[in-house]
Amino acid sequence: MCRTRIFSSGCCFFLAFFWSGLLTADTVVLQLPWFHQFQFAGYYAAQAQGYYEQEGLEVEIRAGMDDNGYTQNPVEEVVFQRAQFGVTRSDLLVHHARGLPVVMLATVMQRTPAAFITLDRYHIKRLEDISDKPVSLPLIADKPDTVIDIEAVAALARAGVAVSQMNNRVENWDLDALVQGKIQVTFGFATDEPYILKQRGQTPHVISPMDYEIDLYGDLLFTSESTLRTDPDLVERFRRASLKGWDYALKHPEELALYILKTYPLRSDEYDLAFLLHEAEALRDYIQPDLVELGYSNPARWKRIINVYREIGITDPINLDRFIYQPADNNNLANWSGLILSVIIAMLIIIGWLIRARLHLVKKVQHSEQRESQLRLQAETDPLTGLVNRRRFSLELDVCYLRAKQTKSPLAMLMLDVDHFKNINDEYGHLAGDAVLCSLARLCEGVIRETDVLCRYGGEEFAFLLPDSSQEQAMEVAKRLMKAIRGDHIQWEHHTLRYTVSIGIAELKRTDNEGIDLLRRTDRHLYQAKADGRDTISIDAMVKAPG
Ligand code: GH3
Ligand code: MG
Ligand code: MG
Repeated sequence: MCRTRIFSSGCCFFLAFFWSGLLTADTVVLQLPWFHQFQFAGYYAAQAQGYYEQEGLEVEIRAGMDDNGYTQNPVEEVVFQRAQFGVTRSDLLVHHARGLPVVMLATVMQRTPAAFITLDRYHIKRLEDISDKPVSLPLIADKPDTVIDIEAVAALARAGVAVSQMNNRVENWDLDALVQGKIQVTFGFATDEPYILKQRGQTPHVISPMDYEIDLYGDLLFTSESTLRTDPDLVERFRRASLKGWDYALKHPEELALYILKTYPLRSDEYDLAFLLHEAEALRDYIQPDLVELGYSNPARWKRIINVYREIGITDPINLDRFIYQPADNNNLANWSGLILSVIIAMLIIIGWLIRARLHLVKKVQHSEQRESQLRLQAETDPLTGLVNRRRFSLELDVCYLRAKQTKSPLAMLMLDVDHFKNINDEYGHLAGDAVLCSLARLCEGVIRETDVLCRYGGEEFAFLLPDSSQEQAMEVAKRLMKAIRGDHIQWEHHTLRYTVSIGIAELKRTDNEGIDLLRRTDRHLYQAKADGRDTISIDAMVKAPG
């Protein structure tokens, strides 16, 4: 019962360890940088398809902007632990370089859709032409690293346009301002604004940072160093479910577009189903799902991005190993080692249990063997004298007979019976008789060799088997015994008990067919000795045949 409990508690421990991630849901927040739209479809898909739930996660997907223009910076939200995960672009590396403890988990967009947007009718084909134009750019002169749109900073630098010399900057993000000419250049997403402008009857023109060989990653998923440190498993689960969500979203764009439309408040009426479908299609160019594994980021490419940053004056040392999440392998290693550890523990428990069961069995077998040999010994031993009994003697007789026949060696037998033993019992009591028998047994033992067999044959009868002995040699033994008996004075309750014995002796004959023939002859001589007046020895008057 106890063993069963140990075993089942071991299993419970194992299962609890294994399933713990599924039993309790971890609540986390994903901070988006912008309004809800297809740009974040993978996360919605992970939510809608239950991928987060399957990983034991309850996820709140928070928009980065609301109708009132309230913005939340994902980097700030994650660093200050108001969100566990965030989405931003390559600016993340700048924040990391400046010492913010952020870790890049997955690159969703292999290229950035962030771009300069103008209208054909303003005739601005290149960035080199914008210095004196009214532009709305998220730039702060001489502080390129304080802005989120690192693509703009880098592209302008490549174009040789100094931000400090742009003398006509107007902060106005309304596309109406662009249409009305209040501004002629703005900064947005090639997947968004051009579509809306077309809807408004305009002919947009996009100047991409890529035209200036600024090739940065687009949207990234990231977390904080502290979240990764305290719960690497949570991070891996979130990453896994999110990428699975992205895979689903890219394969089912219509379904996701409808889901977004139904589930989330969108930026305005212009951002309708048609827009979401357009965005879904346009994003494929940037996500490149057919070319690159979702989430993959290339350290060599990050090194090239660092070089771009160096060009624009971001010279802080950058530790890419700390910045780029070492995903599955390391963290799976932790998962796997946890799993392997629990399997090992469970196996050790099972092995321990089996060893215990086996030891118990071995002990039981040993015990029963001991008991068996004990019983066998008991069955073949006379309890009073400790000599072997008649049963055992019969076996020994058969063995000695066969050996003597095979080796043609002599075999003698000697039987003795206490004379008038009944009188001792009658006169001094049964216990006195027992004492005499025990004393006699010790004397008998004293006259035999190790190879001889001595037994208590019956009540007060003893028998000796003397291998390799003739009856003459047996006679010598008998005489020594008689002598010893004569000197045996047993003290019993102020009395001295003395006794005599009668002895019969015989030797195996060639004509004997079995051991019992020898026994019968010996017994006959014992009777003869009794008949001869007791306290005497009767021996076969045999004439031995030669050989
Ligand atoms: P004999 O000289 O003819 O052998 O006479 P006896 O009295 O020795 O022979 P008998 O066969 O008449 O008596 C044997 C007695 O031995 C009878 C029995 O009570 C006694 N006896 C047998 N076994 C034991 C025993 O273990 N202890 C004791 N104390 N007496 C025993
Ligand atoms: Mg007798
Ligand atoms: Mg007797």
